[in-house]
Amino acid sequence: MDHLPVFLQLQARPAVVVGGGHVAARKVELLLRSGARVTVIAPELLDELRRLADQGRFEYVCAGFADSHLDDADIAVAATSDREVNAQVSASARRRRIPVNVVDDPELSTFIFPAIIDRSPIVVAVSSGGQAPVLARRLREQLEALLPTRLGALARFMGERRKAVQSALRFGARRPFWERIVGGLVGSRVMAGDDAGAQTAFERELYESHLTSNAATDGRGLGEVYLIGAGPGDPDLLTLRALQLLQQADIVLYDRLVPEAVLDRARRDARRVFVGRVAGGTAVQERTNELLVQYAKEGLRVARLKGGDPFIFGRGGEEIEVLSAHSIPYIVVPGITAALGAASSAAIPLTHRKLSQSVTFVTGHVLNDGTLDWQQLAGPHRTVVFYMGVAHLPQIVARLRAAGAPPDRPVAIIERATLPEQRVLRGSLDDIVSLAASSNVTAPALLIVGEVAAFSTAEVLVSTVAAARLPDGAMA
Ligand code: SAH
Repeated sequence: MDHLPVFLQLQARPAVVVGGGHVAARKVELLLRSGARVTVIAPELLDELRRLADQGRFEYVCAGFADSHLDDADIAVAATSDREVNAQVSASARRRRIPVNVVDDPELSTFIFPAIIDRSPIVVAVSSGGQAPVLARRLREQLEALLPTRLGALARFMGERRKAVQSALRFGARRPFWERIVGGLVGSRVMAGDDAGAQTAFERELYESHLTSNAATDGRGLGEVYLIGAGPGDPDLLTLRALQLLQQADIVLYDRLVPEAVLDRARRDARRVFVGRVAGGTAVQERTNELLVQYAKEGLRVARLKGGDPFIFGRGGEEIEVLSAHSIPYIVVPGITAALGAASSAAIPLTHRKLSQSVTFVTGHVLNDGTLDWQQLAGPHRTVVFYMGVAHLPQIVARLRAAGAPPDRPVAIIERATLPEQRVLRGSLDDIVSLAASSNVTAPALLIVGEVAAFSTAEVLVSTVAAARLPDGAMA
């Protein structure tokens, strides 16, 4: 380790920044955020700093640097573009034995600023010891994405209740209690922004732990269910919240639309349970509902992974009805529904100013029960996406034609969208049935009907590629 990572308490402590430009501004901002009493020394100030000075956020000394400016300082930062001035600040600070940072100059510095992820009061600092700031920043971005935005809220929630827990629980019971808070219902309620739910769950957990803290049980209560949209297949299309909850879940229920690569993003030791339809099986949904309730009542955090979005032809609505009926808490995480995934990976804009002003998602399951308005679906300037439509393709085409859609109405079929095996078939109402048959299209696949299905940017793409390859005729 080249440096010792420490967190300085600077509340109301004097900090001096020498310099009045952009770089100085970033450091001033940071020091103000940590509560320091900042003085800026510079012959002139950038507008952005001047505004802060006018608001009285820091004291401004309009002058060049002089040794006496550090008389009362606890910490000094040199951020001028003049190395000589920076060196003076550094020497003067070292004489006084106060920590000094010269921006981008490790040699003149006694401390360096790390890259910071701020979820106050949780703060993560990343440093490459000044050797590879770009790498440190990249790491920070990755950590930013990984750490929930509301992590700070959870830390505050816990901080505010420390005393109550200290007086309610004996020493040995506190740590397991906090572990359950962080990893369980209370933690996920706080993260979901449900303060009232978190408080209720906290009180129940504290009460139960109080009752059981001398017994040999861990006082575990009710679990909860995460209804997670797994997207169309490509694991990179999972949301950050889906990933976070998958990392917490004790058990994962999934069906056939969820590929292995998505399951692999769950916690390693989480149990996996397949709840999809097996050939000839019925009553799958009832069985799934029962399992959700059963596992949650065992106190487990249950991730229910559903292809696409849970609320688009996914029976997510039925699952939350069952959970509510059993008073089991749940969180719904939206996912990229197959229509959106398929359209973007086939470069078909579902709406387009010149071609289509609306888009309708239809399930191919209900072709004949009279609930669909075929006249409307067959109309011009609109896009219709049929889910679960491949098995019923000939009927769908016949219905649309009978309702007045012209034979040359463009159609696209996207099979296994966003997966490595994705195939896109384009045709028209006239020939799509035979095309699908000869190409042997199988589920899961989607049908997009409307002018946009013929949309193509191929020529533009080709010409940009050609232009990029032939700069100034270099390859000629
Ligand atoms: N809740 C899901 C849809 C479930 S219905 C969602 O929001 O996407 C199942 C149907 O979705 C399939 O029959 C198929 O029409 C479509 N589908 C799901 N994944 C797909 C994929 N990767 N490519 C094409 N269609 C898909």
